[in-house]
This record gives sequence, structure tokens and C-alpha cells, in this order.
Amino acid sequence: MTEIDYGQVTGMVHSTESFGSVDGPGIRFVIFMQGCKLRCQYCHNPDTWAMETNMSQERTVDDVLNEALRYRHFWGKNGGITVSGGEAMLQIDFITALFIKAKELGIHCTLDTCGFAYRPTPEYHKIVDKLLAVTDLVLLDIKEINPEQHLFVTRQPNKNILLFAQYLSDKGIPVWIRHVLVPGLTDIDEHLIELGEFVATLKNVDKFEILPYHTLGEFKWHELGIPYTLEGVKPPTKERVQNAKKLMHTENYKDYMTRVHG
Ligand code: SF4
Repeated sequence: MTEIDYGQVTGMVHSTESFGSVDGPGIRFVIFMQGCKLRCQYCHNPDTWAMETNMSQERTVDDVLNEALRYRHFWGKNGGITVSGGEAMLQIDFITALFIKAKELGIHCTLDTCGFAYRPTPEYHKIVDKLLAVTDLVLLDIKEINPEQHLFVTRQPNKNILLFAQYLSDKGIPVWIRHVLVPGLTDIDEHLIELGEFVATLKNVDKFEILPYHTLGEFKWHELGIPYTLEGVKPPTKERVQNAKKLMHTENYKDYMTRVHG
């Protein structure tokens, strides 16, 4: 059998960011992959949606890794690389090859995903297990726990996303769960309570975070000529953020889980 040259595997990369500070622990080199099948109404990267576009570049793993390594001295003990998107798992062969090469160099690898590409089949498990074997941390965005509301917010079902959360828990892969709080859209008390209850069933959650909606990506929708349905929606108030934190017990989440489950 011919050995795979992981360094030469190619993927469509939208862009990179040298000093990511919110995409996992420490300072991180973030690789934004092209392509996403969701259409979140609050997306701040709609320019990553299309798979075929002149906004991305086909790059090899070696090329991306060499760029990342230029910033390694900023990473300290906690930092590393994060693949994000778009939806990074749509290009699972590329990100697996990237993480395999990165792990050979002792780099901490984080996958930022919405989990939508997951399939609960033995064939897919073979593929995804190869990725998870070289993944240190998964940042899993759960947009909405309620199936109908998820469909409304993202135009896609959440069934496989929740199954992926369960799969990661069964595998014991460390996870940070993140929920973007958008007034009137994903800030519904009963859904927040249900999401909190679902997350509490998982055994691998190191952090549970609320990300308040912001409008920084709105200009991209206008530039791309896509109607922005959240026009005029403001970021959530401090009180609503506090309410969501309380309903989902997100503050000191690990301590909360220890208190509840011992
Ligand atoms: S999953 Fe992420 S990239 Fe895709 S539409 Fe939603 S917010 Fe945007």
C-alpha cells in the first residue's frame, strides 16, 4: 500500500488569522476553511458559504502549516492551531492530514465545528475517528436545541449535530459547547433550559459558553448582496445574557457538573 503524503493533501482555505484569541485556549493560528451547508441568519462569515468561489485558495497542508509555524513563539503553553470556517468538517481529509502533521510537531489542535457533517454510520465513524485521534479539543456550536427553531435559524436540521455531541461524549473528546445568543431568535427561555439539560447529559464538556450576537459581520451580507434578515437587531442586553447563563448554568460549568453529578 502506498503511504499517504499528508503534507501534500490540499484543501480550499478561505483565510487565516495569526492571533486568534477566542478560538480555543491561548493564542491560536486560525485556519478558516471554505464551504458551509448551514445558512445561519446571524452568520458573520457568509463569504465562506460557497464551496466554489474565487474567495478561497487551494493550499497544501505543508503550506498552511509552514505559515502557522511562523507564529509558534506566540502560542506559549496553551496555544496552537484551530480549524474553523465555514464548516471545516466538510473538508475532513484536509483537516485530518493537517492535524496529523501538526501533532507530529507537538502542536495543540482544535476543531471549531457545527457538527452538521457528522453521520451516525460505521463508514463515517471510520473517517471521523481518524480526525478525532489527532484532535485535542472540539468547539461545538449548538445553534438551537429545538428542531423547528434550528431549521428556521440555519435552514438545516439539528439531528446529526446532537448525535455528534453524543458521539464526542462517548469517545471522551474534550469539548467546549458554544451557543450564540440572538435576541428573538436563539434567546428563548424554554429552549435555553432544554439546551442546558441536554449539555448536562454529556460527560466531556470542559466549558459551556454563551456568545452574545454581534453585528460585525453584517457588512459582508450587504457586500455579497444577500438580504440580512436580522437588520436592526441589537446585541442582547446584559440582563438577557445573565438570564441565559443562569438557565444553562454556564458559569464555572465544570464545578456545576461536579456539584450535580459528583
Ligand atoms: S455554521 Fe458557521 S459558517 Fe456556517 S452559516 Fe452558521 S455561522 Fe456561518
